[in-house]
Amino acid sequence: MDCIFCKIVKGEIPSKKVHEDEFSLAFHDIEPKAPTHILVIPKKHVASLAEARPADEALLGRLLLTAAEIAREQQLGRGYRVVISTGPEGGQTVDHLHLHLIGGRQMNWPPG
Ligand code: AMP
Ligand code: ZN
Repeated sequence: MDCIFCKIVKGEIPSKKVHEDEFSLAFHDIEPKAPTHILVIPKKHVASLAEARPADEALLGRLLLTAAEIAREQQLGRGYRVVISTGPEGGQTVDHLHLHLIGGRQMNWPPG
């Protein structure tokens, strides 16, 4: 399958890794939108949040907890935002589920 994030998981495309465990990988976004912009992805290919199934419940929970753990490591105690772009109108451009962990500046609402 021609999935850029699966290739990052396999090490076929380089990334600036910040965390790796059995289920997930986290690395710096190549086009950061804030001082801290990290992507947290499942190693398993799940195309989007819309494609997640009840069997993925534990995986989704782990991804959120991993994002919170990384935020602590990255000194984001003042706050941060976790975003999951989903589908074309959600602005999803890579069809492999990913959490954006964004911080280091004031966030605004609503997002664009
Ligand atoms: P989204 O547009 O919400 O689907 O998020 C996809 C994100 O992946 C964007 O913020 C891109 O900058 C980022 N991205 C695309 N290719 C790479 C890559 N090779 N390494 C790191 N981040 C990437
Ligand atoms: Zn994939």
